Amino acid sequence: MAVLVRNIMENMVEDKLEQLLPELNCCTCDICKTDILCYALNRLKPKYVSTEQGELLSKVDSISVTYGAAILTELAAGAEIVRKNPHHKARLKEDT
Ligand SMILES: [Zn+2]
Repeated sequence: MAVLVRNIMENMVEDKLEQLLPELNCCTCDICKTDILCYALNRLKPKYVSTEQGELLSKVDSISVTYGAAILTELAAGAEIVRKNPHHKARLKEDT
C-alpha cells in the first residue's frame, strides 16, 4: 500500500476555516479565504505525518484536538488582517 507524507496542518486549517467562516465576519471570496489560510499556515508549525491511504482523517481528528486552539487564534488574526486590507480590491503589493 502506498505510504504518503502529508502536512496535515494544511488539512486541519482548511477544515477549521470552513467551519469558522460564518463567524469570522470577513469576506468569503476565494482570494480572501486563501489569504487567511496562508496567514495561518505561515505562523503554525507544519505537522508532517506518514500515512497510508484512508488513514489520514483519523490522524487529523486526533491531532486537531491538540492544535485546535492555536489554529483558531491564527485564523481569527488572519481574518482581521484580511478584513482591514482585502486583496480582492487591490492586488498590488506582495505581503511583507
Ligand atoms: Zn474577498
